[in-house]
Amino acid sequence: MDDVAPVLSGPMQSVEEFSEEAAAWLAEHGTLRQNESDKKDIVWGEGDFSVSVFHALSHEDEQALIERIKSWTQKKAEKGYHAIAWPVEYGGLGLTRKHASAFARLQRQYEMPGGHEITGVTTGLVAPTINVFGTDEQKARWMGDFLATRELCSQLFSEPGAGSDLASLACRAEKDGDEWVVNGQKVWSSGAQFAEWGELIARTDVDAPKHKGMTAFIVPLDHPGVEVRPIKQMSGGASFNEVFFNDARFSDDLRLGPVGEGWKVALTTLGFERDHSDDSGGGGGRVGGGWQHVLATAQALGKTQDPVLRQKLADVYINHRIEGFVNRRAADLAKGGTPGPEGSLTKLVWTEQMTRVSNMIGDLLGPSLIADSGEWGTYAWGEHVLGAPGYRIAGGSDEVQRNIIGERVLGLPGEPRVDKGIPWKDVPR
Ligand SMILES: Cc1cc2nc3c(=O)[nH]c(=O)nc-3n(C[C@H](O)[C@H](O)[C@H](O)COP(=O)(O)OP(=O)(O)OC[C@H]3O[C@@H](n4cnc5c(N)ncnc54)[C@H](O)[C@@H]3O)c2cc1C
Repeated sequence: MDDVAPVLSGPMQSVEEFSEEAAAWLAEHGTLRQNESDKKDIVWGEGDFSVSVFHALSHEDEQALIERIKSWTQKKAEKGYHAIAWPVEYGGLGLTRKHASAFARLQRQYEMPGGHEITGVTTGLVAPTINVFGTDEQKARWMGDFLATRELCSQLFSEPGAGSDLASLACRAEKDGDEWVVNGQKVWSSGAQFAEWGELIARTDVDAPKHKGMTAFIVPLDHPGVEVRPIKQMSGGASFNEVFFNDARFSDDLRLGPVGEGWKVALTTLGFERDHSDDSGGGGGRVGGGWQHVLATAQALGKTQDPVLRQKLADVYINHRIEGFVNRRAADLAKGGTPGPEGSLTKLVWTEQMTRVSNMIGDLLGPSLIADSGEWGTYAWGEHVLGAPGYRIAGGSDEVQRNIIGERVLGLPGEPRVDKGIPWKDVPR
């Protein structure tokens, strides 16, 4: 890797010193945002008003967006700014989350390429999972490239018959000599059409109970027997894919973690997916409209004096602040390690706030939400309102998060599980 940051010698750089250097680097390589509104508050009618949750882009435009994100991440990788709290051997700086947060704050002053699921999955979900389960060779092979987005990796978990009950999945991987032969189908694989790799969870033992007979792999997607088919959405975009495995043969060195431990690997990835406590994310990839957008909309429409709407606005603001506090507490609990069930809480607080924002905007805009009057900052909110429900499902639905909190945080009695202890092959489906 030619972009590994120099090994730090001596005591760790203070956050202040680091910020000074980072600010100078950003000033040299970034483009300062044009108007004050982009930096903090929104000035009505100025610049972009983007509150979309998902992309509704053509394949070419989506590819171009991903290339812009990769290019900025790789620029940062020349200094290790893409992976500030990651070890030096993976291209990071070996500093703390405080340093990473300081960089993220500075970066917000600059034009960013935006965010995309596939770069987020690669750097925020798959790379940390490999860090937990990978062998030294696997870490050396993938971590640097994934963190710097030189290569991308999709999440191949869900199947047509296995979503909330992921542990019932049926995609088979059978051992044949030193190889694994994979057959089956995955679905809802975000961004797989743009990825070189997939983190696959497959069934390797049909005689074991469902949670015990799975194994994880990192598999190449441009491989004989693997077919990636984008799913066209009514919005015009194609965020998801079906991925088919037809006698696809993979060598055993692509196995991530021990045979039969795929459930642990999947839970680790899902822990990172549900965790929303990290504010140091790289690309400035805010999802949907935030409190500032809601407030600006209410002010522009002259609705902040309406007593009923004021009450609702106060509720959105209170929950915006609560979300920040819950995230900080979860970050303290996780201490930069693998997030536990507290990740379910941060995910739930996040999706509930997105829904609250949708409802507030419906109250503020009324018909302008669905009829494009051309007025800046109004009809655009449809992209938030239509996209937000997707994240109530992705990474485990709200109901599933509540089950996890009930059972693993509050210690409430578990759901009735009729297939507990039964070999997977004997469970009716
Ligand atoms: C935006 C988005 C991105 C995604 N990206 C990926 C990806 O990259 N890779 C991937 O593998 N998958 C991905 N998924 C799939 C996602 O993980 C599944 O959709 C999710 O786990 C739910 O599974 P399902 O769709 O099969 O719904 P089901 O499991 O069939 O659930 C249907 C309904 O039943 C409820 N329900 C189910 N079980 C229970 C229960 N025990 N208690 C209470 N209620 C229950 C659910 O809450 C839901 O409302 C994505 C989904 C979305 C929306």
